[in-house]
Amino acid sequence: MLIKDLKQDCPRCQTTGKVAAFSQWGIQQTNIGGTCPDCKGRGYLPSLLGQDVLHFLNDQTLDKHAARLKELEDRLAAAQQQLESINQHLTKLEKPSR
Ligand SMILES: [Zn+2]
Repeated sequence: MLIKDLKQDCPRCQTTGKVAAFSQWGIQQTNIGGTCPDCKGRGYLPSLLGQDVLHFLNDQTLDKHAARLKELEDRLAAAQQQLESINQHLTKLEKPSR
């Protein structure tokens, strides 16, 4: 697999990344700034293979973040228990039973 397999030439701007005008809902519009609205000025779009790879990477990234979030939630719960315990000790120290 090569990088060029992951992308295809943008058909709207023909890889220039610029278009002077484009048609939206059948209305011809001047393109202020000139950047191609399809490829955002890159001149290429992800190919079907490129889209698959992006999807795969996003899934993996989401899994990684979900695992990290769970780990942080567990640590937060443990820290809250410790804090609760400390608060109980402090309450006893502040109000000694007679
Ligand atoms: Zn383009």
